[in-house]
Amino acid sequence: MVTEYCHRKHHSADLGDLCPDCQDLLDYAIDRLNHCPRHERRASCRKCVIHCYSPSYRESIRQVMACIGPRMIYLHPVMAVRHMIGEMRARH
Ligand SMILES: [Zn+2]
Repeated sequence: MVTEYCHRKHHSADLGDLCPDCQDLLDYAIDRLNHCPRHERRASCRKCVIHCYSPSYRESIRQVMACIGPRMIYLHPVMAVRHMIGEMRARH
């Protein structure tokens, strides 16, 4: 998701090649995920982001999601569907 964002927004050479800012954000995201206490049963990544990202990274990841989120259904249909199921469960 971050790679896709970087490719579109920062014109990085190709997918998988991140600019330093996006690499930093991705490292942070992975680090948060590894340390998340609700890792096993967290309902959705958006919820998780809101709770455990520091404000500056939260803003960055929010921009990534705003840019790429709506496209996820086309780019990664399986991931998007899983995500929506997670969101629905979170409401009940
Ligand atoms: Zn970038």
